[in-house]
Amino acid sequence: MKFCPNCSTPLTLVVPAGDNRPRHVCPGCNAIHYQNPRIVTGTVCTWGERILLCKRAIEPRYGYWTLPAGFLEIGESVGDGAVRETTEEAGAKIELHGVYSMIDVIHAEQVHVFYRASMLGPQLDPGPESLEARLFEENEIPWDDLAFRTVISTLRWFVADRREGRFSLHTDSIVYRPKTLTEVPSGNAPV
Ligand SMILES: [Zn+2]
Repeated sequence: MKFCPNCSTPLTLVVPAGDNRPRHVCPGCNAIHYQNPRIVTGTVCTWGERILLCKRAIEPRYGYWTLPAGFLEIGESVGDGAVRETTEEAGAKIELHGVYSMIDVIHAEQVHVFYRASMLGPQLDPGPESLEARLFEENEIPWDDLAFRTVISTLRWFVADRREGRFSLHTDSIVYRPKTLTEVPSGNAPV
């Protein structure tokens, strides 16, 4: 953030009185512009035993597979955002079954939240952000071609939990490590 959204004055980075960390402060109108992590919300959605994945038609990670997910919009609940993103990216009609994973992505200034969900019918109609939307059997999941670490973690948990026959909330915290995808096991080994 370089300029004040209110008055266009160049911002300074200072610790305001009574605060404990640097903020973007406007010397023109004295506004303090707080910045906080953004929420990405999505679903682990199934039709029968198969799991819904979308092939990304946008950067980052163009051409890689992902769980349907995107940024929460102002004015909607996290759950409503997950439903909307799944509809937009896959054209699936779904119902939610509760929060399944919540992962801090510290370096990206994001929190990723995934709900378990099921499709209400088999129809898929991928939107402009997806090259393809497809249902995968567990042994077909393209582990080497998944877009994001939060997607890999959530799918690993889901596959393991489903084998155990019980689902519980999973949380994790990711900090930046170079070459993040090299640690992903190859082949169809989810855990
Ligand atoms: Zn200002």
